Amino acid sequence: MTKLQATRIAALKENFKGQVILPDDDLYESARKVWNATIDKHPALIARCATTSDVVGAVNFAKDNGLVLAVRGGGHNIAGSALCDDGIVIDLSQMTAAQVDAGSLRGTIEGGATLADFDVATQAHGLAVPLGINSTTGVAGLTLGGGFGWLSRKYGMTIDSLESAEVVTAAGEVVRASSTEHPDLFWAMRGGSGNFGVVTRFEFRLHPVGPNVLSGLIVYPLSEAKAVLQQYREFMAKAPDELSVWIVLRQAPPLPFLAETVHGKEIIALALLYAGDPKQGEPLIEPLRKFGTPLGEHVGVQPYTAWQQAFNPLLTPGARNYWKSHNFSVLDDGLFEAVIEYIKKLPSPECEIFFGAIGGATMRPAPDSAAYAHRDARFVMNVHGRWTDPADDERCIGWARDYFKASAPFASGGVYVNFLTADEGDRVKAAYGQNYDRLARIKRKYDPTNLFSTNQNIQPA
Ligand SMILES: Cc1cc2nc3c(=O)[nH]c(=O)nc-3n(C[C@H](O)[C@H](O)[C@H](O)COP(=O)(O)OP(=O)(O)OC[C@H]3O[C@@H](n4cnc5c(N)ncnc54)[C@H](O)[C@@H]3O)c2cc1C
Repeated sequence: MTKLQATRIAALKENFKGQVILPDDDLYESARKVWNATIDKHPALIARCATTSDVVGAVNFAKDNGLVLAVRGGGHNIAGSALCDDGIVIDLSQMTAAQVDAGSLRGTIEGGATLADFDVATQAHGLAVPLGINSTTGVAGLTLGGGFGWLSRKYGMTIDSLESAEVVTAAGEVVRASSTEHPDLFWAMRGGSGNFGVVTRFEFRLHPVGPNVLSGLIVYPLSEAKAVLQQYREFMAKAPDELSVWIVLRQAPPLPFLAETVHGKEIIALALLYAGDPKQGEPLIEPLRKFGTPLGEHVGVQPYTAWQQAFNPLLTPGARNYWKSHNFSVLDDGLFEAVIEYIKKLPSPECEIFFGAIGGATMRPAPDSAAYAHRDARFVMNVHGRWTDPADDERCIGWARDYFKASAPFASGGVYVNFLTADEGDRVKAAYGQNYDRLARIKRKYDPTNLFSTNQNIQPA
């Protein structure tokens, strides 16, 4: 570990409102854990910031001491990019405050907040911004990569609702990025991930949602998967923007609405949300119940915040995880055959493959209107390898990689930057797509020495 001089650490602590956590401190072990348990990094120092000025102090400390710098929002990134070995981690997990101005339909949230922090604050006013499907994820990392979830077909990617951000740049300056202030930085941050600075506060445009929404699960046996997938493809081609239906293939968890004999069996589930008046949604979802003979369903009107947390029990932190992902513009029969084949040989009960339906409003902005380039993606697939015993690493990772290869011929070639693992450096350009060169030029302007490098990295041009 790099030996940081005690005097320098004392100088950092002097004006620091948060906590400076060092390897000998009691908090260190818990502070160096992230969602994915395969990540095992040992930073020299964790600067758990409480204020924007703490972040400025920590950025300057990293520069002055020539340290590798990592930035932690919600700690969910599969690649473990929130941490680094031997360097400094700017940990924003204490910066979670939200403010909502219902009159102007604007909300702000600090850079370490989780989706739940923002959902709860906005839903108090019947408002929301499109965020992801697991409420313990960080708003920051999700937003900076693009961000999508149940509301995206109706209201677009998360970045499409971003109005401005307060950013601490590599120069240690606090700037506001918006369409009129540092517009190049604002463009780059909307999909360029953590390459351009530390975001201490986001400002979003909010949308009316719920607070009660029609949502839930309809579950079919794997034996009916091909017919379900084919009907799903036809259904989604005509579905209104308000209706999101995702596909999840896995072993059935012990859900109370499924017979015990179904638990642990391979299934295909339709997960749905209607982002409008539930009464108008009811007849629209009726065909989903007739794709075959369901094993069970749990669909009803429930608080949006409850549906946002519905998948949390399957996605708890502390398990070992390895992901592979493709974007799709169309769903081919060959893809359906491949996915069914691989679900029949799941290497652990927690592994799953899902298809998130985006499309709708996510496709309307031009691919160069923000750094996020994948406006052609109708579906984002994630092969979610998940297990507990390190002895299963090779088997579970091998399964994910093999299915990834088998499904590649049907994919669009693009990939969602937030689903890339640490070993996919060769896919970084595919993740930024046609916008890579412009991003590299903006990187040169705002971060010429690549201080923000522990991410899906863009080299300064
Ligand atoms: C269980 C689970 C479910 C998910 N579901 C979805 C989903 O439905 N939709 C979706 O779009 N994505 C989803 N994701 C992916 C998610 O968007 C990424 O993992 C994202 O990077 C998480 O952000 P974080 O802040 O939690 O991560 P962290 O690991 O803390 O951060 C990831 C990277 O983002 C950057 N970063 C974080 N905070 C800041 C900041 N304040 N300023 C500057 N840079 C920062 C840094 O480069 C950091 O390395 C999911 C992830 C998980 C684990």
